[in-house]
Amino acid sequence: MDLELGDAHRELREVARAWVDKEVVPYAAAWDRAESVDTAIVRKLGDMGFLGIEIPEEHGGSGGDALSYCLLLEELGRGDSSVRGIVSVSLGLVGKSLEAYGSEQQKQDWLPRLCAGESLGCFGLTEPGTGSDAANLTTRAVRDGEDWVLTGTKMFITNGTWADIALIFARTGEPGPKGVTAFLVPTDAPGFGRTEIKGKLGLRGQATAEIVLDGVRVPDSARLGGEGQGFRIAMAALDKGRMGVAAGCVGVARACLEAAVRYAGEREQFGKPIASYQLVQELIADIAVEVEAARLLAWRVADLVDRGRPFGTEASVAKLFASEAAVKAANNAIQVFGGYGYIDEYPVSKYLRDARVLTLYEGTSQIQKLLIGRALTGVNAFV
Ligand SMILES: Cc1cc2nc3c(=O)[nH]c(=O)nc-3n(C[C@H](O)[C@H](O)[C@H](O)COP(=O)(O)OP(=O)(O)OC[C@H]3O[C@@H](n4cnc5c(N)ncnc54)[C@H](O)[C@@H]3O)c2cc1C
Repeated sequence: MDLELGDAHRELREVARAWVDKEVVPYAAAWDRAESVDTAIVRKLGDMGFLGIEIPEEHGGSGGDALSYCLLLEELGRGDSSVRGIVSVSLGLVGKSLEAYGSEQQKQDWLPRLCAGESLGCFGLTEPGTGSDAANLTTRAVRDGEDWVLTGTKMFITNGTWADIALIFARTGEPGPKGVTAFLVPTDAPGFGRTEIKGKLGLRGQATAEIVLDGVRVPDSARLGGEGQGFRIAMAALDKGRMGVAAGCVGVARACLEAAVRYAGEREQFGKPIASYQLVQELIADIAVEVEAARLLAWRVADLVDRGRPFGTEASVAKLFASEAAVKAANNAIQVFGGYGYIDEYPVSKYLRDARVLTLYEGTSQIQKLLIGRALTGVNAFV
């Protein structure tokens, strides 16, 4: 079941689907075991134009619209959430923030490389002491002549050990959201330290890092947007990021559905395929319904984005529903697989481990509910 797509969107989806089947699906389990996807994937993503969707061609991008981005992220999410996350962060959070807020020089310096997969970006908002409460971050940037000097620690940073450029949010002024400024910090700058966080439940192929900024000096030209504009930049990136995460969740749930349907048709118990049992069909049908609903919610956000309409609350609705749906889908798929779902010879246990983070990052499910509640009631539960 699907909405009618135009030729360009259909073609993009077919290309992405075939590419994921060839370049991602066969390797995903091995990358998970090795706790690292093959870094060559970044360049391959760039070669396909997948790291430049929604970025104009004059900045090295491949154009396209928000729906194109959703179609791509669904396919990547179906193949491997670690690979999907590389794109979500380097393009979705960093590249698109650069395109929206960067100076022409910053765009020329970084966007062609990011879009080509020659460089990778990471997004440094979360700190050890501030996750959901990001407006109270404590990393400081202090003015020193023409430069800024950054000091602090960032936690759980996707692409952190691989990235060439880090979008770092630091305090330059008053407490709270209005005192935060964004900086583009090259990761080879003196004082920039990063350590990979191992032992994650899922997304094991993805490089997640703790970043320590020990007096990192950048020129004022590294500032992205105005002084005090950083929190707004971060929230705008996450609003749109949630659309992409929702689309990625649809991909994970679809992978669960496809695996469950296939297995239910092959596995026999009591002399018949388990697909013939109504309780097994119920597990599968429940996944299918939520895949459809989650996809439509993600596409609704894309439609609003593409028409230049406000979309923040709709993005929270989509992210909340789709991420919870992905976890349920993976759980149901394991149930369909029985004991075989519990071992990593089959993909569904990885789907559950990978899906679990989706209700946590880019705003937990609780935070999405507070954002939706604030929009509906006009009452801000964060103060
Ligand atoms: C694999 C991975 C990759 C990540 N990648 C990035 C990245 O690239 N860049 C980045 O900046 N961050 C990243 N993060 C961080 C992620 O965004 C945070 O973990 C998330 O925002 C939650 O913050 P926290 O972990 O500090 O949890 P906390 O904020 O401490 O929350 C703990 C619990 O309290 C609940 N809670 C908190 N406040 C409230 C409230 N007001 N009302 C109700 N419940 C509340 C939460 O919902 C949650 O259940 C990543 C995290 C992971 C695990």
